[in-house]
Amino acid sequence: MIKDYVNVMEEIVVTLVTIAMAGPEYQAFCHCESCRNEIIAISLNNLPTHYVATDEARKHAYDALNTPENLKWINKRIIKAIYAVGKYSKH
Ligand SMILES: [Zn+2]
Repeated sequence: MIKDYVNVMEEIVVTLVTIAMAGPEYQAFCHCESCRNEIIAISLNNLPTHYVATDEARKHAYDALNTPENLKWINKRIIKAIYAVGKYSKH
């Protein structure tokens, strides 16, 4: 149930970052909470927002974004963010 409004892109990015960080390709990168939050923030700054205010609109937006082609370009920006954070992370 949506309380006020949500950015559907944010839900998708959080899920994709969790999946990417759990994968074998990114084991060498820091997995701490602050790096993870930084990766999510940078990714979201480089992606279009997709705010909705009703559950029905959320479902439509989620289905529209959750296609193989869309997940591919969203993942590209997430991977860029993972490398960017990995480069300047101090630990
Ligand atoms: Zn870290």
